[in-house]
Amino acid sequence: MNIHEYQGKSILQSHGVPVQEGFVAETAEQAAIVAEELRKKFGTEIFVIKAQIHAGGRGKGGGVKIARSPAEAAEVASRMLGMTLVTPQTGPAGKPVRKVLIAQDVYYEGESDIREFYMSILLDRKRGSYVFMYSTEGGMDIEEVAEKKPEAIFTEPVDATCCLHDFQKRIIAFNLGLRGKVFREMTRFLGGLWDAFISSDASLIEINPLLKTSDDRILAVDCKVTLDDNALFRHPDLAAMRDLNEEDPTEVEASESSLNYVKLDGDVGCMVNGAGLAMATMDLIQLSGGSPANFLDVGGGANATTVEAGFRIILKDPNVKAILVNIFGGIVRCDRVAAGIIEAYKTIGNITVPVIVRLQGTNATEAKELIDGSGLKVIAASTFTDAAGKVRSALS
Ligand code: GDP
Ligand code: MN
Repeated sequence: MNIHEYQGKSILQSHGVPVQEGFVAETAEQAAIVAEELRKKFGTEIFVIKAQIHAGGRGKGGGVKIARSPAEAAEVASRMLGMTLVTPQTGPAGKPVRKVLIAQDVYYEGESDIREFYMSILLDRKRGSYVFMYSTEGGMDIEEVAEKKPEAIFTEPVDATCCLHDFQKRIIAFNLGLRGKVFREMTRFLGGLWDAFISSDASLIEINPLLKTSDDRILAVDCKVTLDDNALFRHPDLAAMRDLNEEDPTEVEASESSLNYVKLDGDVGCMVNGAGLAMATMDLIQLSGGSPANFLDVGGGANATTVEAGFRIILKDPNVKAILVNIFGGIVRCDRVAAGIIEAYKTIGNITVPVIVRLQGTNATEAKELIDGSGLKVIAASTFTDAAGKVRSALS
Protein backbone atom coordinates (compact mmCIF):
# COMPACT_ATOMS: atom_id res chain seq x y z
CA MET A 1 0.00 0.00 0.00
CA ASN A 2 1.28 3.43 -0.87
CA ILE A 3 0.69 6.47 1.31
CA HIS A 4 1.03 10.23 0.87
CA GLU A 5 4.16 12.23 1.54
CA TYR A 6 2.64 13.90 4.62
CA GLN A 7 1.69 10.50 6.07
CA GLY A 8 5.15 9.09 5.39
CA LYS A 9 6.71 12.09 7.11
CA SER A 10 4.49 11.54 10.15
CA ILE A 11 5.80 7.96 10.42
CA LEU A 12 9.37 9.26 10.20
CA GLN A 13 8.70 11.88 12.85
CA SER A 14 7.28 9.31 15.25
CA HIS A 15 10.72 7.67 15.10
CA GLY A 16 12.56 10.89 15.74
CA VAL A 17 13.56 11.43 12.11
CA PRO A 18 13.82 15.16 11.29
CA VAL A 19 11.66 16.25 8.37
CA GLN A 20 10.72 19.47 6.63
CA GLU A 21 7.83 20.53 8.91
CA GLY A 22 4.38 21.02 7.45
CA PHE A 23 0.66 20.49 7.80
CA VAL A 24 -1.86 19.08 5.38
CA ALA A 25 -4.81 21.14 4.12
CA GLU A 26 -7.88 20.29 2.08
CA THR A 27 -9.17 23.81 1.50
CA ALA A 28 -7.62 27.23 0.90
CA GLU A 29 -8.91 28.40 4.32
CA GLN A 30 -7.16 25.51 6.03
CA ALA A 31 -4.00 26.32 4.07
CA ALA A 32 -3.97 29.87 5.48
CA ILE A 33 -4.55 28.59 9.01
CA VAL A 34 -1.79 25.98 8.92
CA ALA A 35 0.63 28.41 7.27
CA GLU A 36 -0.02 30.80 10.19
CA GLU A 37 0.63 27.90 12.55
CA LEU A 38 3.96 27.17 10.84
CA ARG A 39 4.89 30.81 11.21
CA LYS A 40 4.11 30.77 14.94
CA LYS A 41 5.71 27.42 15.67
CA PHE A 42 8.79 27.51 13.46
CA GLY A 43 9.12 31.13 12.39
CA THR A 44 8.41 30.12 8.78
CA GLU A 45 8.26 33.09 6.39
CA ILE A 46 8.49 31.23 3.08
CA PHE A 47 6.09 28.37 2.45
CA VAL A 48 6.18 25.44 0.07
CA ILE A 49 2.84 24.16 -1.20
CA LYS A 50 3.03 20.53 -2.29
CA ALA A 51 0.29 18.56 -4.03
CA GLN A 52 -0.42 15.27 -2.26
CA ILE A 53 -0.94 12.54 -4.84
CA HIS A 54 0.42 9.02 -5.03
CA ALA A 55 2.98 9.85 -7.69
CA GLY A 56 6.38 11.46 -7.82
CA GLY A 57 7.77 14.07 -10.18
CA ARG A 58 5.34 16.63 -8.76
CA GLY A 59 7.95 19.37 -8.91
CA LYS A 60 8.20 18.92 -12.69
CA GLY A 61 4.42 18.92 -13.14
CA GLY A 62 3.77 22.14 -11.21
CA GLY A 63 2.79 20.41 -7.97
CA VAL A 64 5.39 22.18 -5.80
CA LYS A 65 5.14 25.96 -5.43
CA ILE A 66 6.55 28.67 -3.19
CA ALA A 67 4.48 31.29 -1.32
CA ARG A 68 5.65 34.25 0.74
CA SER A 69 2.74 34.70 3.14
CA PRO A 70 -0.13 32.67 4.58
CA ALA A 71 -2.47 34.58 2.27
CA GLU A 72 -0.39 33.68 -0.77
CA ALA A 73 -0.16 30.07 0.48
CA ALA A 74 -3.97 29.99 0.50
CA GLU A 75 -4.06 31.44 -3.01
CA VAL A 76 -1.60 28.88 -4.37
CA ALA A 77 -3.44 26.10 -2.53
CA SER A 78 -6.79 27.13 -3.97
CA ARG A 79 -5.34 26.90 -7.47
CA MET A 80 -3.67 23.55 -6.80
CA LEU A 81 -6.64 21.90 -5.07
CA GLY A 82 -8.96 20.38 -7.63
CA MET A 83 -6.46 20.57 -10.45
CA THR A 84 -5.44 17.46 -12.35
CA LEU A 85 -1.73 17.11 -11.93
CA VAL A 86 0.21 15.47 -14.72
CA THR A 87 3.73 14.35 -13.83
CA PRO A 88 6.16 11.94 -15.49
CA GLN A 89 4.76 9.27 -13.13
CA THR A 90 0.98 9.80 -13.43
CA GLY A 91 0.55 9.03 -17.11
CA PRO A 92 -1.12 11.51 -19.46
CA ALA A 93 -4.46 11.35 -17.60
CA GLY A 94 -2.91 12.83 -14.45
CA LYS A 95 -4.27 12.66 -10.92
CA PRO A 96 -6.70 15.04 -9.20
CA VAL A 97 -5.26 16.95 -6.23
CA ARG A 98 -7.45 16.65 -3.12
CA LYS A 99 -4.93 17.62 -0.46
CA VAL A 100 -1.91 19.86 -0.24
CA LEU A 101 0.94 19.92 2.21
CA ILE A 102 1.88 23.38 3.44
CA ALA A 103 5.53 23.08 4.44
CA GLN A 104 8.32 25.30 5.66
CA ASP A 105 10.90 26.35 3.11
CA VAL A 106 14.13 24.67 4.13
CA TYR A 107 16.30 25.85 1.27
CA TYR A 108 16.55 29.34 2.80
CA GLU A 109 16.72 31.44 -0.32
CA GLY A 110 20.10 32.85 -1.14
CA GLU A 111 21.95 30.22 0.84
CA SER A 112 24.24 28.12 -1.31
CA ASP A 113 25.70 25.82 1.31
CA ILE A 114 23.04 23.16 0.88
CA ARG A 115 23.30 19.66 -0.51
CA GLU A 116 20.65 17.31 -1.84
CA PHE A 117 21.09 13.56 -1.38
CA TYR A 118 19.07 10.53 -2.37
CA MET A 119 18.31 7.97 0.34
CA SER A 120 16.20 4.83 0.23
CA ILE A 121 15.72 1.53 1.98
CA LEU A 122 14.32 -1.29 -0.10
CA LEU A 123 14.20 -5.01 -0.46
CA ASP A 124 17.01 -6.59 -2.45
CA ARG A 125 15.40 -9.81 -3.64
CA LYS A 126 18.60 -11.13 -5.19
CA ARG A 127 20.62 -10.72 -2.02
CA GLY A 128 17.70 -11.70 0.20
CA SER A 129 18.29 -8.68 2.40
CA TYR A 130 17.34 -5.08 2.84
CA VAL A 131 19.55 -2.50 1.28
CA PHE A 132 20.22 1.19 1.76
CA MET A 133 20.56 2.72 -1.67
CA TYR A 134 21.87 6.26 -1.58
CA SER A 135 23.52 8.88 -3.67
CA THR A 136 25.26 12.22 -3.56
CA GLU A 137 23.04 13.25 -6.48
CA GLY A 138 19.67 13.95 -4.88
CA GLY A 139 16.69 15.90 -6.12
CA MET A 140 16.70 14.31 -9.56
CA ASP A 141 15.37 10.99 -10.84
CA ILE A 142 17.48 8.17 -9.48
CA GLU A 143 16.93 6.34 -12.78
CA GLU A 144 18.65 9.21 -14.52
CA VAL A 145 21.57 9.12 -12.07
CA ALA A 146 21.85 5.36 -12.60
CA GLU A 147 22.14 5.96 -16.31
CA LYS A 148 24.42 8.99 -16.43
CA LYS A 149 26.49 8.72 -13.28
CA PRO A 150 26.22 5.19 -11.87
CA GLU A 151 29.35 5.71 -9.74
CA ALA A 152 27.36 8.20 -7.64
CA ILE A 153 25.01 5.47 -6.39
CA PHE A 154 26.03 3.43 -3.35
CA THR A 155 24.44 0.43 -1.69
CA GLU A 156 24.72 -0.88 1.85
CA PRO A 157 23.02 -4.23 2.47
CA VAL A 158 21.48 -4.74 5.90
CA ASP A 159 20.76 -8.11 7.46
CA ALA A 160 17.03 -8.06 8.20
CA THR A 161 17.44 -10.56 11.03
CA CYS A 162 19.84 -8.24 12.81
CA CYS A 163 20.08 -4.50 12.50
CA LEU A 164 21.76 -1.53 10.96
CA HIS A 165 25.21 -1.43 12.58
CA ASP A 166 26.81 1.83 13.69
CA PHE A 167 29.76 1.25 11.36
CA GLN A 168 27.30 1.04 8.44
CA LYS A 169 25.77 4.40 9.34
CA ARG A 170 29.29 5.83 9.36
CA ILE A 171 30.11 4.31 5.96
CA ILE A 172 27.00 5.93 4.47
CA ALA A 173 27.68 9.35 6.05
CA PHE A 174 31.30 9.15 4.93
CA ASN A 175 30.42 8.19 1.35
CA LEU A 176 28.08 11.18 1.21
CA GLY A 177 31.09 13.36 1.95
CA LEU A 178 29.95 14.56 5.36
CA ARG A 179 32.28 15.49 8.24
CA GLY A 180 31.90 16.90 11.76
CA LYS A 181 28.51 17.80 13.24
CA VAL A 182 26.52 17.04 10.13
CA PHE A 183 28.18 13.60 9.93
CA ARG A 184 26.67 12.79 13.35
CA GLU A 185 23.32 14.29 12.27
CA MET A 186 23.33 11.87 9.36
CA THR A 187 24.16 8.78 11.43
CA ARG A 188 21.34 9.70 13.82
CA PHE A 189 18.98 10.26 10.87
CA LEU A 190 19.84 6.82 9.46
CA GLY A 191 19.19 5.10 12.79
CA GLY A 192 15.73 6.65 12.98
CA LEU A 193 14.99 5.90 9.33
CA TRP A 194 15.86 2.23 9.84
CA ASP A 195 13.63 2.06 12.96
CA ALA A 196 10.76 3.62 11.02
CA PHE A 197 11.24 1.17 8.15
CA ILE A 198 11.36 -1.97 10.31
CA SER A 199 8.65 -1.08 12.79
CA SER A 200 6.14 -0.06 10.13
CA ASP A 201 6.79 -3.21 8.03
CA ALA A 202 7.60 -1.02 5.06
CA SER A 203 8.92 -2.46 1.83
CA LEU A 204 10.21 0.89 0.58
CA ILE A 205 11.13 4.24 2.03
CA GLU A 206 12.55 6.73 -0.43
CA ILE A 207 13.72 10.20 0.55
CA ASN A 208 14.51 12.36 -2.46
CA PRO A 209 15.79 14.90 -1.74
CA LEU A 210 17.35 14.35 1.64
CA LEU A 211 18.65 17.79 2.44
CA LYS A 212 21.69 19.08 4.25
CA THR A 213 20.60 22.58 5.18
CA SER A 214 22.89 25.59 5.33
CA ASP A 215 22.78 25.34 9.12
CA ASP A 216 23.95 21.73 8.95
CA ARG A 217 20.76 19.89 9.67
CA ILE A 218 19.70 16.74 7.84
CA LEU A 219 16.02 16.83 6.80
CA ALA A 220 13.69 14.64 4.78
CA VAL A 221 12.20 17.05 2.23
CA ASP A 222 10.23 14.38 0.39
CA CYS A 223 9.07 10.97 1.54
CA LYS A 224 7.69 8.01 -0.33
CA VAL A 225 6.64 5.00 1.73
CA THR A 226 5.26 1.66 0.55
CA LEU A 227 3.86 -0.57 3.28
CA ASP A 228 3.64 -4.34 3.05
CA ASP A 229 -0.08 -5.15 2.62
CA ASN A 230 0.43 -8.52 4.28
CA ALA A 231 1.58 -6.88 7.50
CA LEU A 232 -1.10 -4.18 7.69
CA PHE A 233 -3.17 -6.26 10.10
CA ARG A 234 -0.46 -5.53 12.66
CA HIS A 235 -0.77 -1.78 12.16
CA PRO A 236 -4.37 -0.54 12.29
CA ASP A 237 -3.07 3.04 12.54
CA LEU A 238 -1.13 2.65 9.29
CA ALA A 239 -3.92 0.71 7.56
CA ALA A 240 -6.14 3.73 8.26
CA MET A 241 -3.82 5.83 6.06
CA ARG A 242 -5.17 4.08 2.96
CA ASP A 243 -6.55 6.61 0.47
CA LEU A 244 -9.04 4.87 -1.79
CA ASN A 245 -9.19 7.96 -4.01
CA GLU A 246 -5.68 7.16 -5.16
CA GLU A 247 -6.45 3.60 -6.17
CA ASP A 248 -8.03 2.21 -9.32
CA PRO A 249 -11.76 1.89 -8.42
CA THR A 250 -12.06 -1.48 -10.14
CA GLU A 251 -9.09 -2.81 -8.18
CA VAL A 252 -10.72 -1.58 -4.95
CA GLU A 253 -13.97 -3.36 -5.85
CA ALA A 254 -12.03 -6.53 -6.65
CA SER A 255 -10.19 -6.50 -3.34
CA GLU A 256 -13.56 -6.18 -1.57
CA SER A 257 -14.59 -9.47 -3.25
CA SER A 258 -11.20 -11.02 -2.31
CA LEU A 259 -10.16 -11.14 -5.96
CA ASN A 260 -6.63 -10.47 -7.06
CA TYR A 261 -7.18 -8.10 -9.96
CA VAL A 262 -4.77 -5.88 -11.84
CA LYS A 263 -6.02 -3.84 -14.75
CA LEU A 264 -4.00 -4.01 -17.97
CA ASP A 265 -4.38 -2.39 -21.38
CA GLY A 266 -5.35 -5.33 -23.62
CA ASP A 267 -8.60 -6.65 -25.09
CA VAL A 268 -9.03 -10.15 -23.64
CA GLY A 269 -10.43 -10.35 -20.14
CA CYS A 270 -9.29 -13.39 -18.22
CA MET A 271 -10.48 -15.18 -15.15
CA VAL A 272 -8.18 -17.80 -13.74
CA ASN A 273 -7.53 -19.57 -10.47
CA GLY A 274 -4.00 -19.38 -9.15
CA ALA A 275 -1.41 -16.73 -9.94
CA GLY A 276 0.84 -19.13 -11.87
CA LEU A 277 -1.95 -20.30 -14.15
CA ALA A 278 -3.04 -16.68 -14.55
CA MET A 279 0.42 -15.70 -15.75
CA ALA A 280 0.51 -18.68 -18.15
CA THR A 281 -2.95 -17.72 -19.42
CA MET A 282 -1.79 -14.20 -20.16
CA ASP A 283 1.07 -15.68 -22.18
CA LEU A 284 -1.44 -17.86 -23.98
CA ILE A 285 -3.58 -14.86 -24.87
CA GLN A 286 -0.52 -13.06 -26.17
CA LEU A 287 0.41 -16.09 -28.29
CA SER A 288 -3.06 -16.22 -29.75
CA GLY A 289 -2.69 -12.66 -31.03
CA GLY A 290 -4.63 -10.84 -28.33
CA SER A 291 -3.39 -9.03 -25.29
CA PRO A 292 -4.69 -9.47 -21.74
CA ALA A 293 -7.06 -6.82 -20.42
CA ASN A 294 -6.34 -7.81 -16.86
CA PHE A 295 -4.75 -10.19 -14.43
CA LEU A 296 -7.43 -11.89 -12.35
CA ASP A 297 -6.83 -14.66 -9.87
CA VAL A 298 -10.12 -15.77 -8.33
CA GLY A 299 -8.18 -17.74 -5.72
CA GLY A 300 -8.53 -21.22 -4.33
CA GLY A 301 -11.95 -20.66 -2.78
CA ALA A 302 -13.72 -19.56 -5.95
CA ASN A 303 -17.49 -20.02 -5.86
CA ALA A 304 -20.50 -18.71 -7.74
CA THR A 305 -20.36 -15.32 -5.95
CA THR A 306 -16.68 -14.63 -6.63
CA VAL A 307 -17.00 -15.74 -10.25
CA GLU A 308 -19.95 -13.41 -10.74
CA ALA A 309 -18.02 -10.53 -9.15
CA GLY A 310 -15.10 -11.34 -11.44
CA PHE A 311 -17.32 -11.13 -14.54
CA ARG A 312 -18.79 -7.85 -13.41
CA ILE A 313 -15.33 -6.36 -12.93
CA ILE A 314 -13.96 -7.63 -16.24
CA LEU A 315 -17.00 -6.30 -18.11
CA LYS A 316 -16.53 -2.80 -16.71
CA ASP A 317 -13.56 -2.45 -19.01
CA PRO A 318 -14.83 -1.18 -22.39
CA ASN A 319 -11.73 -2.56 -24.15
CA VAL A 320 -12.71 -6.16 -23.47
CA LYS A 321 -13.59 -7.97 -26.72
CA ALA A 322 -13.56 -11.55 -25.38
CA ILE A 323 -13.29 -13.31 -22.04
CA LEU A 324 -11.26 -16.40 -21.36
CA VAL A 325 -12.11 -18.40 -18.26
CA ASN A 326 -9.33 -20.85 -17.48
CA ILE A 327 -9.93 -22.85 -14.33
CA PHE A 328 -8.11 -25.88 -13.10
CA GLY A 329 -10.24 -27.56 -10.46
CA GLY A 330 -8.04 -28.72 -7.64
CA ILE A 331 -9.51 -27.32 -4.48
CA VAL A 332 -11.88 -25.26 -6.60
CA ARG A 333 -14.81 -27.25 -7.90
CA CYS A 334 -15.51 -26.69 -11.59
CA ASP A 335 -19.28 -27.08 -11.16
CA ARG A 336 -19.30 -24.15 -8.71
CA VAL A 337 -17.43 -22.04 -11.22
CA ALA A 338 -19.88 -23.07 -13.94
CA ALA A 339 -22.77 -22.12 -11.66
CA GLY A 340 -21.09 -18.74 -11.17
CA ILE A 341 -20.81 -18.19 -14.91
CA ILE A 342 -24.48 -19.06 -15.44
CA GLU A 343 -25.46 -16.80 -12.55
CA ALA A 344 -23.37 -13.96 -13.95
CA TYR A 345 -25.08 -14.28 -17.35
CA LYS A 346 -28.47 -14.10 -15.67
CA THR A 347 -27.84 -11.22 -13.27
CA ILE A 348 -25.54 -9.05 -15.35
CA GLY A 349 -27.58 -9.72 -18.49
CA ASN A 350 -26.61 -8.68 -21.96
CA ILE A 351 -23.13 -10.23 -22.00
CA THR A 352 -22.39 -9.78 -25.68
CA VAL A 353 -18.68 -10.55 -25.82
CA PRO A 354 -17.75 -14.15 -26.58
CA VAL A 355 -16.82 -16.15 -23.50
CA ILE A 356 -14.40 -19.03 -23.91
CA VAL A 357 -14.40 -21.43 -21.01
CA ARG A 358 -11.89 -24.10 -20.16
CA LEU A 359 -12.75 -26.02 -17.01
CA GLN A 360 -10.56 -28.99 -16.11
CA GLY A 361 -10.18 -31.07 -12.98
CA THR A 362 -12.52 -31.67 -10.06
CA ASN A 363 -16.15 -31.99 -11.23
CA ALA A 364 -15.33 -30.87 -14.78
CA THR A 365 -17.96 -33.27 -16.18
CA GLU A 366 -20.67 -31.86 -13.92
CA ALA A 367 -19.58 -28.36 -14.94
CA LYS A 368 -19.90 -29.21 -18.63
CA GLU A 369 -23.40 -30.62 -18.06
CA LEU A 370 -24.44 -27.45 -16.25
CA ILE A 371 -23.19 -25.20 -19.02
CA ASP A 372 -24.58 -27.38 -21.84
CA GLY A 373 -27.96 -27.47 -20.10
CA SER A 374 -28.06 -23.72 -19.52
CA GLY A 375 -28.47 -22.85 -23.17
CA LEU A 376 -25.85 -20.13 -22.87
CA LYS A 377 -23.64 -19.29 -25.80
CA VAL A 378 -20.40 -20.18 -24.09
CA ILE A 379 -17.56 -21.52 -26.19
CA ALA A 380 -16.15 -24.60 -24.48
CA ALA A 381 -12.46 -25.40 -24.81
CA SER A 382 -10.74 -28.49 -23.53
CA THR A 383 -7.01 -27.84 -23.74
CA PHE A 384 -4.71 -24.83 -23.56
CA THR A 385 -4.07 -24.92 -27.33
CA ASP A 386 -7.74 -25.35 -28.02
CA ALA A 387 -8.48 -22.30 -25.84
CA ALA A 388 -5.83 -20.24 -27.65
CA GLY A 389 -7.35 -21.09 -31.03
CA LYS A 390 -10.84 -20.18 -29.83
CA VAL A 391 -9.64 -16.85 -28.44
CA ARG A 392 -8.01 -16.15 -31.80
CA SER A 393 -11.18 -16.86 -33.79
CA ALA A 394 -13.27 -14.88 -31.30
CA LEU A 395 -11.08 -11.82 -31.90
CA SER A 396 -11.04 -12.04 -35.68
P1 GDP B 1 8.62 15.36 -6.26
O1 GDP B 1 8.91 16.24 -7.42
O2 GDP B 1 7.27 14.71 -6.36
O3 GDP B 1 9.70 14.37 -6.01
O4 GDP B 1 8.49 16.32 -4.96
P2 GDP B 1 9.62 16.82 -3.93
O5 GDP B 1 9.00 16.85 -2.60
O6 GDP B 1 10.87 16.03 -4.05
O7 GDP B 1 9.87 18.31 -4.38
C1 GDP B 1 10.34 18.62 -5.66
C2 GDP B 1 11.39 19.70 -5.62
O8 GDP B 1 10.85 20.87 -5.00
C3 GDP B 1 12.59 19.37 -4.76
O9 GDP B 1 13.55 18.60 -5.43
C4 GDP B 1 13.12 20.73 -4.43
O10 GDP B 1 13.97 21.18 -5.46
C5 GDP B 1 11.86 21.59 -4.39
N1 GDP B 1 11.55 21.89 -2.98
C6 GDP B 1 11.01 21.05 -2.08
N2 GDP B 1 10.96 21.65 -0.86
C7 GDP B 1 11.48 22.89 -1.03
C8 GDP B 1 11.72 23.99 -0.15
O11 GDP B 1 11.49 23.96 1.05
N3 GDP B 1 12.25 25.12 -0.70
C9 GDP B 1 12.56 25.22 -2.01
N4 GDP B 1 13.08 26.35 -2.46
N5 GDP B 1 12.37 24.18 -2.86
C10 GDP B 1 11.84 23.04 -2.38
MN1 MN C 1 11.03 13.95 -4.56
